[in-house]
Amino acid sequence: MVVATSKQTSSTPLHRLAITQVGRVGPGLAEKLAKLNIESVQDALLHLPLRYQDRTRIQSIGQLQPFQDAVIQGEVINAQVMMGRKRSFLVRLRDTSGTIGLRFYFVSQALKQFFEKGAEVRVFGEARPGSSGLEMYHPEYQRPDQVQATEESCLTPIYPATDGLSQQRLRQIVGQCLSYLKQQSVTPLLRESYLPPTLQIPLNQALAFVHQPPPGTDTHALLEGLHPAIQRLAFEELVAHQLSLKKLRDQTQAQVAPACPASQKLQADLINQLSFTLTGAQQKVCSEIAADMQHTQPMLRLVQGDVGSGKTLVAAMAALQCIEAGYQVALMAPTEILAEQHYHSFLNWLNPMGIDIAWLSGKVKGKARAQALDALASGQARIAIGTHALFQDDVVYQELGLTIIDEQHRFGVHQRLALREKGRGRFPHQLIMTATPIPRTLAMSAYADLDCSVIDELPPGRKPIQTLVMPSGRRDDVIERLRDHCATGQQAYWVCTLIEESENLQCQAAEDCAQLLTEALPDLNVGLVHGRLKPQEKAEVMAAFKAGLIHLLVATTVIEVGVDVPNANIMIIENPERLGLAQLHQLRGRVGRGTAASYCLLLYQNPLSRQGRARLEVMRETQDGFMIAEKDLEIRGPGEVMGTRQTGLAQFRIADLLRDQPLLEQVAQVSDQVRSQDPERIDAIVDRWLRQAERFAQA
Ligand code: ADP
Ligand code: MG
Repeated sequence: MVVATSKQTSSTPLHRLAITQVGRVGPGLAEKLAKLNIESVQDALLHLPLRYQDRTRIQSIGQLQPFQDAVIQGEVINAQVMMGRKRSFLVRLRDTSGTIGLRFYFVSQALKQFFEKGAEVRVFGEARPGSSGLEMYHPEYQRPDQVQATEESCLTPIYPATDGLSQQRLRQIVGQCLSYLKQQSVTPLLRESYLPPTLQIPLNQALAFVHQPPPGTDTHALLEGLHPAIQRLAFEELVAHQLSLKKLRDQTQAQVAPACPASQKLQADLINQLSFTLTGAQQKVCSEIAADMQHTQPMLRLVQGDVGSGKTLVAAMAALQCIEAGYQVALMAPTEILAEQHYHSFLNWLNPMGIDIAWLSGKVKGKARAQALDALASGQARIAIGTHALFQDDVVYQELGLTIIDEQHRFGVHQRLALREKGRGRFPHQLIMTATPIPRTLAMSAYADLDCSVIDELPPGRKPIQTLVMPSGRRDDVIERLRDHCATGQQAYWVCTLIEESENLQCQAAEDCAQLLTEALPDLNVGLVHGRLKPQEKAEVMAAFKAGLIHLLVATTVIEVGVDVPNANIMIIENPERLGLAQLHQLRGRVGRGTAASYCLLLYQNPLSRQGRARLEVMRETQDGFMIAEKDLEIRGPGEVMGTRQTGLAQFRIADLLRDQPLLEQVAQVSDQVRSQDPERIDAIVDRWLRQAERFAQA
């Protein structure tokens, strides 16, 4: 919140000082600035340049080279409106070394006045060959006495701008904010001594440097964010984020959760039912969870485990501990298909124990929904499984003890919090599961509010998946191969991808593809599943596939998560270049679950970009989820990889989790230091950097 009082006091912190109070920023301009997310003085100061120009020297007109950016100064010797194909205003400018044309494709009274014959002007622009020799098109122009001192002494920043807001105006505004900063010392919230030695630069100096670097500065390092001035800012921002997440964690842990003693019976019953034993990694994570849930302090645990590592079973074990203690469980998944898959796994495991499960998704309506709600409210149902429908207002639990969220990166923080609210006075324990492994330092930052467990072992007997990359021109060969493959009783997936946002188009593409494959492979049973099918239809198709009645299942990326059919051991993915690595890894994880050799064929569309080629290459080379995540980070950046755009977890102004990875370890240490040494400063630091943090905390 930016406060706009009529009087600015010297104690008003910069992020609370409205931009409208500095210089002459009226409502119209304020609106344009808001489009750039500039509302406060601080916002303006953190609006970093895109690049820099060197305007510190005036060039001789006679020595200008074509396509050179340059500042020139001279006398207007002629100015007239030209009536060519397009009306233009042409000014002739002369200095002691030569003349040049300045051309404007608009004419105004102000322009004519400015370029009056005989006037001395300074302009900046790019010299290009034109019809009158070298010309500058729409250069920036000023009277020599208007030129800001900084323009001659510092590199000139070029900012991200918006329609109707000129660079000149933006520079002026930032300049005013900077001079305000000079009169006014910024409270150093983060002690300088906490910063790494090379980054011990006062905040206002770092800011001034970024906006007005002296000539000769390594602007490349500045723009890449590797310059100490930027790193200094990024460091503080990262600390602020860390502090806010820890604060969230503290707030949650100050609440009371129902204590669930270690399971005496139900967990053992489940294990006895299984045809396999838990892997060491599953056992380890299960005992970490079991220990957490015995306390009245709410558990906040993230379980990371690669595709196929057996997270569902870990979730079931946690659920049983909670149910045995007399509380209810809510298990939420991001898609209908995944939720259904969980529902069926849990039915299999829990029904024999006489535990009732309520099924809730957006498509459960009317009587079925009313019954499910009743069962949850009365406590007859001990566990609810579904999509985000689980936390709608009218869903009431008798006594919720544990929420489990699968594939956490697809849910927003808000959704996580909304489910937490269902505890009615008591806070349920929280278990979050993700198959998108991220490197440890990154997890430390992104999930600072959570404890992390890793299932770092796959169940035994998994066969490596051989991945082949080929152009879509070889589709016919692939279809032939499928014919032979399925003739031996094995099954396959054919995944159609279409990123065009519309789900309808995606489904259409899958329908067309299924049609084509049905015609090409008359001996095979081709099934089709996509997001537009009714849940009933979807379930029938999946059941038929699982039973082996369908040989080839054509699907959209709806099967990306969770689907488990061990006899399906070949997967064809069309247009894999359109998907992220994590998503491809998820998809591919649907095969390689049985004992037979498995294949994944990536049928890409030519021409393939360099990045696209690099990504597919990674898929061919490795099956290790952590390695893939690392590569994905390198190629695409953390925002895309973790889906932070949706979660709102890491919207940084300056920091960049990937670029700043080397800082993260120290960021965590410094955050702890602040928490123990300067707890009274935490709010101010968080408040300075994160306007959103508070909203999350209250959501
Ligand atoms: P994910 O971690 O991707 O969610 P799932 O929970 O779907 O993985 O498990 C994948 C498959 O592995 C399922 O068929 C599951 O029954 C099986 N599975 C889980 N744990 C084990 C184990 N310890 N030994 C053998 N198979 C297991
Ligand atoms: Mg899963």
